[in-house]
Amino acid sequence: MDSRILSDREKQVHVKGDGPFSMNCDMPSLAGAVSQRACVFCGSRVVLYPIADALHLVHGPIGCAAYTWDIRGALSSGPELHRLSFSTDLQEKDVIFGGEKKLYSALRELIERHNPNGAFVYSTCIVGIIGDDLQAVCQRVSQETGIPVIPVQSEGFKGNKRAGYNAACNAMFELVGTRPTDDISPVSLNILGDFNLAGEIWIIRQYFERIGVQVVANITGDGRIDDIRRSHGAALNLVQCSGSTMDLAIMMERQYGIPFLKVSYFGVEDMADSLYRVANFFKEIRPAIIDRTRELVRNELNRLYPELERYRKDLNGKKAAIYVGGAFKAFSLVKAFRLIGMDVSLVGSQTGTEEDYKELYEITDPGTIIVDDSNPLELSNFLEEKDVDIFVGGVKERPIAYKLGVGFCDHNHERKEPLEGFVGMLNFAREVHSTVMSPVWRFSPRRVSQHVHNERSLKAV
Ligand code: SF4
Repeated sequence: MDSRILSDREKQVHVKGDGPFSMNCDMPSLAGAVSQRACVFCGSRVVLYPIADALHLVHGPIGCAAYTWDIRGALSSGPELHRLSFSTDLQEKDVIFGGEKKLYSALRELIERHNPNGAFVYSTCIVGIIGDDLQAVCQRVSQETGIPVIPVQSEGFKGNKRAGYNAACNAMFELVGTRPTDDISPVSLNILGDFNLAGEIWIIRQYFERIGVQVVANITGDGRIDDIRRSHGAALNLVQCSGSTMDLAIMMERQYGIPFLKVSYFGVEDMADSLYRVANFFKEIRPAIIDRTRELVRNELNRLYPELERYRKDLNGKKAAIYVGGAFKAFSLVKAFRLIGMDVSLVGSQTGTEEDYKELYEITDPGTIIVDDSNPLELSNFLEEKDVDIFVGGVKERPIAYKLGVGFCDHNHERKEPLEGFVGMLNFAREVHSTVMSPVWRFSPRRVSQHVHNERSLKAV
């Protein structure tokens, strides 16, 4: 690896095969390194705002509220209040005299106007500094309106995006256990950590319905306040995107004794494995679930494999780079690329834990670069050094790829086609194939200069 890495970041990068595995992670981003991570408030908003029948009010300057539905379009099958962005628009006078009165009036006005089933009030940096008592204002409005009004302690300076996930889980935990659970089946679960960006949760829910499992609450894609309030009645929690909702699963296990399984719905292997693990969990009380799951997986694979084979022929030996928010997605992507014949040269995440990186180390090939909390300069260098054919990431990684003339696959906020489940694997393979095989990359600067270089070498020979 000859990329330039800031010396303070050297321990957050590992090349498989270069000595024993060891990596630093889950630490504050290095000043000056321009991390791809967002702030605490953004982390909490990512997790909570797919709850579609809630009012989401950002208590702070208007600029903090710029992170709207348009940037991360979580879909809803019903109400769409989450698409509206509200802010108390704190100004200089509010900072000097306090913003509690403004918050109270905004909440009362918005609740009267939109009639939500609950409200989340997000704290921003300045609110943490001036010390507005969010808890007291929320409690008062909740008593007066009869709906849960939950403060989210997400002051931006308090840590990194991961601390925002924790603030979101704490806020949701206040809702859990506050509605009756009488009509919930013993064969039931909650789906945690899927945000329904392109309708994925509808695909997954349908699989569970086909094997006879009741889904109590989506947490949080296409989520509803009342479902979360009675989610403690489910027999099992399934946790995808473990970084974002694992804290909630742990709190529910401690308080209500609900076990959890870590799963992923990306790629064939992980999707099938998730379904089989759920079936195994319920097989004592519902023995037929095993056969139903086998049949589902068999039918889906029979449809999928012949089509994947066509893409695999063209993609064999091409190279991919992966940089995503949560590491769970990276595991599944490594396996998904392998299934379509591609090699992964780089894999990293914004918020992975030591356990996550160990798992990545185990499933990747020698020579793969594994990186934590990277930045645009590092990523650009890695992409050039490895000469990859496609980069998979989110909205902040897209310009890095295009500037270098590398194909890109959005696996995050902006995609409009689901990539989860068996059908999602096919969508993924199709998208990767059309991007990697596109003739346009022949004209990108790096390919043109490579071509000129090759021509000159030939002439010299
Ligand atoms: S870092 Fe602070 S000021 Fe900036 S967006 Fe986040 S909460 Fe707002």
